[in-house]
Amino acid sequence: PGLVVAVDGPGGSGKSTVAKAVARRLGLRYLDTGAMYRAVTQLVLEQRVDLEDPQAVAELAERAVITPGTDPDAPTIAVNQVRVDAEIRTRAVTNAVSAVSAVVAVRARLVAQQRQIIAEAAQTGRGIVVEGRDIGSVVAPDAPVKVFLTASTEVRALRRSRELGEKGVDDVARTLAELDRRDVLDSTRKVDPLAVPKDAVTLDSTGMSVDEVVDVVLRHCAA
Ligand code: C5P
Repeated sequence: PGLVVAVDGPGGSGKSTVAKAVARRLGLRYLDTGAMYRAVTQLVLEQRVDLEDPQAVAELAERAVITPGTDPDAPTIAVNQVRVDAEIRTRAVTNAVSAVSAVVAVRARLVAQQRQIIAEAAQTGRGIVVEGRDIGSVVAPDAPVKVFLTASTEVRALRRSRELGEKGVDDVARTLAELDRRDVLDSTRKVDPLAVPKDAVTLDSTGMSVDEVVDVVLRHCAA
């Protein structure tokens, strides 16, 4: 069966860059589970469903068809057959996603779908790199390779700011505050909070280049 690699960590830790690079190097599929939570959130905002109403959010999520592409060279995401690749990266979605991902029914639905995608990739022998917050702990606890990526809050905010095309010091400060808030919400929610899986390799990427981090992960995949 194909290799399953779990990559967890907070926002801006470099998960996406590293997970995609590892998938490319090993010829594996790639699944961005954060994009799935973001896609549901984009729909919630678009339909003007009350973020504070978990029941309403759950009902909307139950009717939504989320379709993630698994090509590491061209990751895509669609909601009800409509591509929302750019829309899910807006500040509005980023700041609302923690409320949506804390809804139990939303998680149950997305985790089931993620497990199905992982099982398919493993069975067809292609293997898959899966990134998120609860992959090694909940979604794929049997994954043979589990990585937990971290970095200092400052470095993570700088990376996020750069991704968003921001330049000013005020922008970075604002991004840092928003990142902090999301970390707290993601780590303290009642269901499947962000946590280090007990058998994960923890990597602090603060002073490391992308290539260095990728090399360490590849070494663990080969072991
Ligand atoms: O990784 P990314 O920043 O795109 O994730 C967006 C949000 O989705 C996270 O802040 C978290 O609330 C949620 N998430 C989650 N479980 C995952 C992946 C993401 O709760 N496996």
